[in-house]
Amino acid sequence: MLYRYAEARSGSGPRYRKGTRVKIQIYLENRYIEMYIEFMRHEHMYPSGRGRFLPSSNGAGHGWGQGPTGPHRGRHRVFDRCAIRVLVLGLIAERPGNREDLIGMIEERSAAVHVPGPDVISPALTWLEEAGEIEAVQTEGHALFRVTETGHAALAAGQDQLAAIMARLTGTQRSGARDRGGFPAMRAKENLQTAVRTQLRNDGLETTAEHRIASILDGAARAVERAGEGGDAQRRAMEDGMTAVEPASPVIRRVRHALRRRALTVMSVERAGTHMIRVTLTGEALEDFVSLAPDDHIKIFLPDPVNGEVRRDYTPRRHDRASNTLVVDFVDHAGGPAADWARSARFGDRLEIAGPKGSGVIEGPISDWVLVGDETALPAIGRRVEELDAGIPVTTLVAVPGPGDEQVFVTAARHEARWLHRPVDHADRPDEIIARLERMVIGPATFVWVAAEGGVARAVRRYLIEERGIAPQWIKAAGYWQKGHADASVKDVG
Ligand SMILES: Cc1cc2nc3c(=O)[nH]c(=O)nc-3n(C[C@H](O)[C@H](O)[C@H](O)COP(=O)(O)OP(=O)(O)OC[C@H]3O[C@@H](n4cnc5c(N)ncnc54)[C@H](O)[C@@H]3O)c2cc1C
Repeated sequence: MLYRYAEARSGSGPRYRKGTRVKIQIYLENRYIEMYIEFMRHEHMYPSGRGRFLPSSNGAGHGWGQGPTGPHRGRHRVFDRCAIRVLVLGLIAERPGNREDLIGMIEERSAAVHVPGPDVISPALTWLEEAGEIEAVQTEGHALFRVTETGHAALAAGQDQLAAIMARLTGTQRSGARDRGGFPAMRAKENLQTAVRTQLRNDGLETTAEHRIASILDGAARAVERAGEGGDAQRRAMEDGMTAVEPASPVIRRVRHALRRRALTVMSVERAGTHMIRVTLTGEALEDFVSLAPDDHIKIFLPDPVNGEVRRDYTPRRHDRASNTLVVDFVDHAGGPAADWARSARFGDRLEIAGPKGSGVIEGPISDWVLVGDETALPAIGRRVEELDAGIPVTTLVAVPGPGDEQVFVTAARHEARWLHRPVDHADRPDEIIARLERMVIGPATFVWVAAEGGVARAVRRYLIEERGIAPQWIKAAGYWQKGHADASVKDVG
């Protein structure tokens, strides 16, 4: 190349017009080609003024690293050129070898995180050979490099640096894996981001789907927050993590109880709120009373002038075996035999009850509870809040006539009480309850329990399924009474 260039300049060779493209062939020994490539890759060939070893304290900088597009074209340079030379020298000192052997040794040491290319190792070999630190020898027909005395002296002087580089080589497995997306958490995060972005870019995305996505993300965030903790928290986080994607369903375990009619006596009557009459019953017949679920119900039997007897459903608010008492809370509403009886109940009055016939125990991978209802649901809601395990998050949203109807539940659970005030006349209107639910975060693995006036319970359930995307198996909704109809409960509005 230089020859042709000189000819062109001196005029003794062929002349080219300005702009003519000339094909120039270069003939160089391999080692110089490699040096040339190395030179082109860096602004300067070798850093000066910092000694032959390690121009940077940790060996990082220009050099070779691990990146997404190839074994040595990384975004993050792991070793600079001087560090590579020291590393190559150190490895040859351990075991004489050729270029491929060295690449293999580095790959092996770094658990395949670093696989330098020949264009990285060859310049280092050339440099070391020219510096007299290694020499090529023929062993059984193969050319191998081994360290010379000069090389051993250089290594001895730079022992600490070599140790640091070796440590870096073997200790970079995690960061190397991270670069390659080898960390499962990073990979999963990127997947999640892509999936969410794709969904949200869709203009036709329905509100239901968006709510569902929000719920999944909220649940996943909670699970991730707990993932670093140990023991139970970690297990719960794993469960949440799984439920965030594919929630396992809760089950309602039905437990049958022997059905018998019991005659009880009123022990006390008190107010548990402006519109709630608390009646405490006792009697020997309570001996084998069993109620396993907070939303169990008993039948109460009341005399009726027309039919002889009427029955109504009530919740066993609290059963205390030790004191042999059963507490029942009656909503004080106008015009119904049960409400009338409670209003006039006195110490020593008799009341016949039956049941519970069975208990529906809600079980499964439930991490949170949301309990929604009106005043008739307060006994079941209160009992569930009180009976939940310590620390379990439970949010209650209860519609009552006024502040005097609010109740305080003593519980170890993480209870958040939300109250909604509306006149009893509006007890069949679902709008306000739904409006309040719209502002509530309901994550995956949250069981939503609803009991209210029939139309309200139905509308709330529909909203939860259709607008919030909550799977029906995560909801239990019942109409505890129906406006304008006597004894008109719907135990399951699904
Ligand atoms: C599983 C279950 C558990 C229940 N637990 C309880 C409980 O623990 N405590 C409780 O108070 N109720 C509870 N109820 C609701 C209760 O059974 C009904 O409210 C029942 O209708 C009351 O009977 P009543 O004789 O007073 O009125 P009914 O004779 O049944 O009805 C007379 C009139 O009163 C209206 N009415 C009924 N209830 C109300 C009300 N709450 N507010 C305003 N108007 C009403 C009816 O629409 C009708 O027009 C429960 C219901 C179910 C299904």
